[in-house]
Amino acid sequence: MTCAPSPAGRAAYDAADWSSAFRNVEEELSDVPLEPARGAIPAELEGTLYRNGPGRLERAGHWVHHPFDGDGMITAVRFSAGRARLRNRFVRTQGWLAEEAAGRFLYRGVFGTRKPGGPLANAFDLRLKNIANTHVVRLGDQLLALWEAAEPHALDPETLETRGLTRLNGLLQPGEAFSAHPRFDPGHHGAPAMVTFGVRTGPRSTIRLMEFATEGPEAGRLLSDRRDSFTGFAFLHDFAITPNWAVFLQNAVAFNPLPFVLGRKGAGQCLRSQPGGRAKFWLIPRDSGAFAGSSPRVLDAPDGFVFHHLNAWEDGDAVVVESIYYSDFPSIGPDQDFRAVNFDLIPEGLLERCRIDLAGGEVSTMRLSERCCEFAMVNPSREGLPSRYAWMAVAERETGNDPLQAIKKLDLVSGERRIWSAAPRGFVSEPLMVPRPGAAGEDDGWVLCLVWNGARRASDLVILDAADLREQAVLELPLAVPHGLHGSWVAAP
Ligand code: FE
Repeated sequence: MTCAPSPAGRAAYDAADWSSAFRNVEEELSDVPLEPARGAIPAELEGTLYRNGPGRLERAGHWVHHPFDGDGMITAVRFSAGRARLRNRFVRTQGWLAEEAAGRFLYRGVFGTRKPGGPLANAFDLRLKNIANTHVVRLGDQLLALWEAAEPHALDPETLETRGLTRLNGLLQPGEAFSAHPRFDPGHHGAPAMVTFGVRTGPRSTIRLMEFATEGPEAGRLLSDRRDSFTGFAFLHDFAITPNWAVFLQNAVAFNPLPFVLGRKGAGQCLRSQPGGRAKFWLIPRDSGAFAGSSPRVLDAPDGFVFHHLNAWEDGDAVVVESIYYSDFPSIGPDQDFRAVNFDLIPEGLLERCRIDLAGGEVSTMRLSERCCEFAMVNPSREGLPSRYAWMAVAERETGNDPLQAIKKLDLVSGERRIWSAAPRGFVSEPLMVPRPGAAGEDDGWVLCLVWNGARRASDLVILDAADLREQAVLELPLAVPHGLHGSWVAAP
């Protein structure tokens, strides 16, 4: 493990170490105590780390086509008084239960997984399997396992037992889309809130923007709800908030559903960059903000493709949005094996800052880093506000595309950065910045990250000091968690 910035040059990792993380999770553990292999768990770290991601990737010798098609499995590590306990559970979705019973895949996947039997067995089967694998957040007395194309699954926050599909007290229609990327307003207008959206796509797309109370007896109550329609097909995975705006970036993509209908491709594989297309920013006024009730603003966005945003904030008449841009839509073709993917042939994600001048309508962009990155966040108390620091997962080498092996703290003002690296045999997931209770500064706290340990063929939980990325503790989990997606921290009450 190193703390020094690594030199540019060729990647130094073993592809077999990286791909060894793609496996089925075969066990569900309950309250297993974790002892640090190195260091000590900070005594002030009180709460639960929840992570979601694909836990089932193969059935009866048949592999998913893309790990994003794997069934959601929640990992929870509970911290109290310098001790940690581990629990993991699959989300009991209807599809997971049926496929467990059958011992084989019964559904197609959005990212190209086919049922056994070739195109004939897949054509015209347009059912969606809600796999609940993308994110997990606390709302009121439940944990929500999120998958953006349909309703959330409600789980017990302690036991991780699946309570069932939830329509949030009748708020959602059966099968209604509910984003896997809620944003947590730290209190721009007094009380904190969860802001999220659902999108219905077509030649015209409709965004439903919802805000929920997150604290006290009101937690989970709907605070506001508005719908806005826009011209064009919408592919929206993430968004960003400021005190007054919800910021969406509509990538210039086209959707041709024919190969999906005919059973040749998953729906997600039918997205393509639209030649000559123009990406758009859609800015929707928040009902809690100064422009409540006004119409959205639509502005041209820079070329490129964005899954994730870092943050957004307001600067006078401008809205500033920091996002991870790809030069093109990255996808895995029908004949490719995701475990043998050539990283050199896939565009890398690069962090850019876009300034949208609402008075003049101009948009300008600057690159914040040349290093391949994903899964970036600011201190949660700076969500929607200007922030000094960001934490993100990055590649080990300074340029080019590679698996994510290191964690970077970036000073967004000076450009100074620090690196903690798990290379050559470790592979990081999304780092979560957890503020210290009563924190003195924006980088006062810890970074928690689940790391695939290629040497052990299992997962480590790494705790770093958020300010200097010094290693505080490494917990070697008795569990092998495949490369995952998003997670959250819930502080102890
Ligand atoms: Fe995401």
